[in-house]
This record gives sequence, structure tokens and C-alpha cells, in this order.
Amino acid sequence: MEETLRKLLNGGHIWCHNANSTDSLMVFQIFSMKERTPPMPQVLYQSKVNITTCYDCMMEYHKCIFKFYKECQKIFEKDSIKGVFRIITEEDIERICQSLENKSLITLVEALTFSYYLIHPRILKSVQEFIKGDIERTPSRNELLPGEINLLFHQDATLRVWARKAITASKRKFDDDLIDSSRGIFEALSSKLMTELKQPIPQSLPNFFSKKVTETLTPYEFHFYTLETKFLFPPTPLIWRSLDFLLSQTHPETIATTIHSREGPFVHIPKIIVQNLRTQETYSFLACLSCFSHFLSSVKEDFWKDSSFSPLQCLTSIFENPLYFKLLSEQETHSILIQWTSTFVDSLVGVEGQQGLVQQILDFLFVRLQSQIVQAHYRNEGLSCAIKISTKFLQNPSILKKIPQEYLLKLAFGFNLLLLLLLLLFIFCDLNFYLFFFLSLKSLI
Ligand SMILES: [Zn+2]
Repeated sequence: MEETLRKLLNGGHIWCHNANSTDSLMVFQIFSMKERTPPMPQVLYQSKVNITTCYDCMMEYHKCIFKFYKECQKIFEKDSIKGVFRIITEEDIERICQSLENKSLITLVEALTFSYYLIHPRILKSVQEFIKGDIERTPSRNELLPGEINLLFHQDATLRVWARKAITASKRKFDDDLIDSSRGIFEALSSKLMTELKQPIPQSLPNFFSKKVTETLTPYEFHFYTLETKFLFPPTPLIWRSLDFLLSQTHPETIATTIHSREGPFVHIPKIIVQNLRTQETYSFLACLSCFSHFLSSVKEDFWKDSSFSPLQCLTSIFENPLYFKLLSEQETHSILIQWTSTFVDSLVGVEGQQGLVQQILDFLFVRLQSQIVQAHYRNEGLSCAIKISTKFLQNPSILKKIPQEYLLKLAFGFNLLLLLLLLLFIFCDLNFYLFFFLSLKSLI
């Protein structure tokens, strides 16, 4: 053993230079030993230095933890494994906190990569102090890290702002793996939002400490989930804003995949969104409408497969929400107040009874929205959106024929007259010849 340890000490970096070698696994055996005679302390010291200063060593160390766990499973009982890993995690908590105090960027990346570290109060506090002391510094690896999702939903505004900055700077989008590795956050988040909406929380929805989550953890990860740990969320409107930001930074296919799997991290979110469309809190409503739109554009008609809500119910929730019309009458511009109508119509393809719903949307844009109480820019945007929606239904003129002529005349003042005449000709003659013309001129709108 001593010989192997001396070889490790003299062979460059303990972890990255010994990748795939069983020698490095010996370091974990030293952890569990009571007597640490030379050269054991030197090896442990060298290992610490390498993990906190070399990115490759840090990553290799984590691979080895898992390998060591697999080895232990072959030899020891469950309880003994837990005991060994308790020693390793305790040493690691010390190492990480100390290294963060010394401003090691590698350790910050480590804490954000293995986001269960951020569940531990002491490590989280050290990360918080690191970031607050050097707010301009972000991991410049051009990679997204799972821990950034944790921080995006943290009570501390500095951490949220920092996470937003780091995510935007990476110019990449979250994929299935990253979203799935933050599953715990989404589960805690869903429980919190459901409690606030006074919705019953499904039994299948675990939280950080439920059996379902902890059973999937290795003993190493398990020790970070201490009993006093509690994820500290910000007030609800800020959760919605962070969720909206996160969805805008996630691949649409990832959103669709986690919904299709029926147990993905986002699976409870659509139902929460639908319930929250009735909120009277401005920021929650705007962010929720935007989340609704992200889901509709990513998941399309599958959004409606949950039988607990229907497109009509969503439409009614929005149109009957006094806050919606109040916002339309205010000076401030929120483009989402009109934009969602278009994604909503797109999601209706293949949904039964869609004709009536499209009709309701067009009626809203052409008639209700054109009231003098509504700000002029919303009225114009609404008409433009109504035209775009109408063009999607040229194959189905029965929808367009229901548009009352007075609204079509209104269009004549705001839009290209020639285009309007072609639309009228098409509606009244049902000729594909006009369809051809209309489509070729669509770019004018
Ligand atoms: Zn190294």
C-alpha cells in the first residue's frame, strides 16, 4: 500500500494523471482509516490541493467517488458503506467551504456542477459569500451548470441575479440532462406553488426529503441532505419570473420531453399555470402568461392532453380576469398580453371544437380589444395578430366568414387595402386562386 501511495504522490496530479487507474481509489480507503501514518496525510493533502485547483482532477475525483461506491457495494453491508461515506462527506464539506473562502473558482464550479452541495446550509452560505464578495465573476466555462437553476429560485436576490447573468452569458440552453439533474428543485417548487394555490398536492410528488428522492441517492449525496435543510424560495411573483426566465432558456424539445414522459420535472407545472391564470397579482400574472405561452409553443396540442383542464377553461380564466383588461388599459407595454393568442391558436390544431375557440380569439382581437379603454398600441397589435391568425385558416373559410364585415372594414384603415380586398374576395368566393394571391402577399402584413 505504501508503495502505491508513494507512486501516486510522485506521479503528478493524483486524480487527472491517474484517470481510470484503481490506484486513486485507494485515497478513499485512507479516508476511512483511523490511523493515518505517512505518507497518508501527504496524499490526502495533495489530493485536496489538486481537486481545488485543477478542473480535470475535480471532475475525475467525482467519477472516482461513484466507482468507489460500486466497489464498496461488492464488499460491505449497506450500513458500513454509509459509515465510510459519512467520513468522506464530512471531509469534503470542510474542503469545499475552506476552498470557497479562498475564492477557488474550480470549487465554485464544483458546487454548481454537483448541485446537491447547494442543499447543504454551510456550503450554500460559503457559495453565497463567494458570490457576494465577487459578483462580477461568473464561471467562464461557457457551460450551463445545474446549480445555477437552484440559485435562480433562491430567496437571496443577489444569487438570483447572479444566476441569471451566468445563464445568459453561457449563450446555451438547458437540455434534458441539466433539467433532470435539478428534479428536486422542480418538485419542491411544484409543492410550494400548489400549496399557495390551495391545490391538493399529489402523493406522487416528493420533496427533497421524501423516500423516493433519497432512495435514488448514493451514500455520498445522501449526507448532503441533512434534516435541517430547507430550500428557501423567494416570494411567489419572483418564483414565476424565474420560471419564465428558465423556460425561455430551455430547449423547447426538453420542455416537450419532460411533459411527454408523464413524470418529468415539469410535469405538474401546466396544471399550476392554468390555476394561476386567475391571479390578481400583476407580476405573477404576466410571468404565468409567458410560461403558458412557452409551454404552448413547445408542447403544442399535447398541452391539452391533461384532462383536468381544457382550452376553453384557460380562455375563460384569462378573459374573465379583471387584471388582464386593467393591464391592457395601462401605459406600460407587455407584448405577451397579445402574443399569447397566436401560440394559443397554434396549439389548437387537432383539438376538438377548435373552430369555436378560434372564433372567440378573433372576436376578442377584432371587437373587445378595440374598445377605447384599451391602449392604442395593444389595439393595433391585436389587429395585426388577428390578420395573422386569419391567414392560418384560409383553408377553413367558414371561420373567416364569421368575421363580421364591420371589423373587416376597420382593417381597411389600418392595413393594406389591396390585401383586404383579396381577403374579402377569398372569403366570399372560396376560390383557391385568391388563396394563392393572398399567401403570396402575406409577407406584406
Ligand atoms: Zn489535475
